[in-house]
Amino acid sequence: MQDEKLIPLSALQHYAFCPRQCALIHNEQLWAENWLTAQGQVLHKRVDNGPPETRKGTRYERGVLVSAETIGLTGKLDLVEIDLSTNAVKPVEYKRGKPKKDSSDRVQLCAQGLCLEEMRGQPVRSGALWYWQTRRRDEVAFTDELREETHHVIQKVRQLLISGETPLAVYEKKCDACSLYDLCNPKLLSRDRSTRYVEDLFDDGEAQ
Ligand code: SF4
Repeated sequence: MQDEKLIPLSALQHYAFCPRQCALIHNEQLWAENWLTAQGQVLHKRVDNGPPETRKGTRYERGVLVSAETIGLTGKLDLVEIDLSTNAVKPVEYKRGKPKKDSSDRVQLCAQGLCLEEMRGQPVRSGALWYWQTRRRDEVAFTDELREETHHVIQKVRQLLISGETPLAVYEKKCDACSLYDLCNPKLLSRDRSTRYVEDLFDDGEAQ
């Protein structure tokens, strides 16, 4: 159980994917590799291991550690771009897959921007998401709405980690791509309780 400790940025992504997955990883310290997480880790290693460099008026810093006490977040950013003419800072997050319909990637990116804002004491107005599968870069403006949503997710994650509880499993299509599928066993655990109750009533211990 966590109290007022800094929340890892990765927990926001895990929560956005599935609150139960977030709790299994951050409350119960469970972790399992599947080919998707392994591929993602290779990509992040490749991106955030390089030395800083400057090209055409922009400085690129990789694997930037952030720790922002007011907002209560910590983590490592894939890439930070600094426009040397304006000093504007922009986080860039690399993703293994393609753009998602939900806002989870944008929320994670905005949280990175909020960390940079707090640490550098200057506004961070946008960031970028780069998708490996589609080789596409999406610029993301940190609007008031996105900031509000991000603060809301941070608050929900904090409550979950402070509670130390793990939500019940609910099987959905995304579970098939979840690295914790075998540990979570969502099909078994999310079965309707009344169905199990009725089954138990007629269970005389013999196979049917
Ligand atoms: S298997 Fe499904 S319910 Fe279980 S942690 Fe993964 S996404 Fe969540």
